[in-house]
Amino acid sequence: MSRMGNEGNEPLEVRGHHLLCAVCARGGCEPPCGMEVLQPLLEAMWDNPYVMLRITADLELNRAHYFDAYEQRGEKELPEEFAERHADHVGRRRDLHVCRMLGIAPNSVLPAFWVYRMLFDRMPTVCEVCTSSARGSEVWPECAHAEAGCYEKIAQGQDLEPEEQVALGEPANLPGIWSMFRPRTREEMDESKVVSAEIIAKADCLFIRPQHLLCILCTADKQEPLVEDNLVEVRRRMEENPDIPVTITEGCCMVCDCCNVYDPDEHICYPVHIKNQLRDLNILEKLDLAPGATLPARELYARVYERIGTLAEVCGWGDGTSTAPFWAPCGGWQGDELDKAREKGLLCGDGRGS
Ligand code: SF4
Ligand code: SF4
Ligand code: SF4
Repeated sequence: MSRMGNEGNEPLEVRGHHLLCAVCARGGCEPPCGMEVLQPLLEAMWDNPYVMLRITADLELNRAHYFDAYEQRGEKELPEEFAERHADHVGRRRDLHVCRMLGIAPNSVLPAFWVYRMLFDRMPTVCEVCTSSARGSEVWPECAHAEAGCYEKIAQGQDLEPEEQVALGEPANLPGIWSMFRPRTREEMDESKVVSAEIIAKADCLFIRPQHLLCILCTADKQEPLVEDNLVEVRRRMEENPDIPVTITEGCCMVCDCCNVYDPDEHICYPVHIKNQLRDLNILEKLDLAPGATLPARELYARVYERIGTLAEVCGWGDGTSTAPFWAPCGGWQGDELDKAREKGLLCGDGRGS
C-alpha cells in the first residue's frame, strides 16, 4: 500500500461488517473472519487514515436466489460462488446494516477517517447487528464476541481536546478513533511547532489558505500561541507589518504544520479536507481573487471586510445546512468575530485594530 493512498488509486474493498470486526480486533478479540482478512485493512488505515475504502454488500445474490428457488433456474447461469454467498445470510445482513448506518449505497467509496467518524457516531455498539433476536438460533447465530465489549471500548472513546492532550502528554493508545489510525505524537507536533513558528517569524511572505483568513479573526482574542495551529503566529506577523505580502494558497498552509489532525506526508487535514476545499473557493470567489493571488495583508483584510458579510455565509453555507458530516458547518458559524474585527479594522493597519 502506497503512503500516498491506494495502490494504483483503486479503493481498498472492505465488506461492511468487516469494518466493525476490525474494531473488535483492535479491541482485543479474534474476529471469526480471521486476521488475514482484517490485517490489510488495519495496516492501510494505520498508514494513511485517508485511504479510500469501497464498502461492499452483496446486492446481486437475492436476484439469483429468486430464479434459483422459484423458476428452477431455466437457462440462467448462477453467479460465481452462489452457494457460498447464499449460505452467508448472516454476513450479508450485517454488511447491509452497516451500509444503512453509514447512509450509503453498497460499493460507495469513502475516506477511512470519515467511515469511522460516522460509524462511531451512529453505531456505539455492535449488539444490534452481531447478536440475534432469535437467541440460540442455529440459522441466525450470534457472534461469540458480540457482547465482549471489544468494539464498544474503542467506538465509545471520546476524542481529547488539544488542552487535554497537552496535559496527558504523549497520546499512547488513546481510545476512540485514534485506536484505528496512527495518532500524531506530541513530539511530532512540538517539533513542527518550533520549526514552523520560526519560518513564519522570518518569512518575507505569508502563505495562507482562504479559510484561515477568517479563522485568524475567530482567534483574535488569543494572545499566546496555540498548540494545535499557527493562527496566532501569522496574525502577529500581519499586526507587526500590515504590508507583508500574503499569498492565498488553497488547502493546508503554514498555519497547519503542528496541528494534531494534519498529515504532513499527505499534506492533508483529515476533518476538513473536503469541506474546506469548497470554502476556500467560495471565499476566493467572494474576494474576486484567483488561487495564488498575492496582496499586502492590509489590502487583503480590507477586501474581506468589504466583501464577506458574515461568518455564516462561508462557515455555515449561509443557512447552516449539514448534508453530511464532512460538509458540516463549523461550530462557530453563527459567531460575530468577523463583525467585531471589521468594526476594529483588525489587520488593516489603520491604527484602530492592529
Ligand atoms: S462481534 Fe460483530 S464486529 Fe465483532 S468480531 Fe463478531 S462479527 Fe465482527
Ligand atoms: S467559524 Fe470556524 S471555520 Fe469559520 S472562521 Fe471561525 S473558526 Fe474558522
Ligand atoms: S490541519 Fe486542519 S484543523 Fe488543523 S489548522 Fe490546518 S485546516 Fe485547521
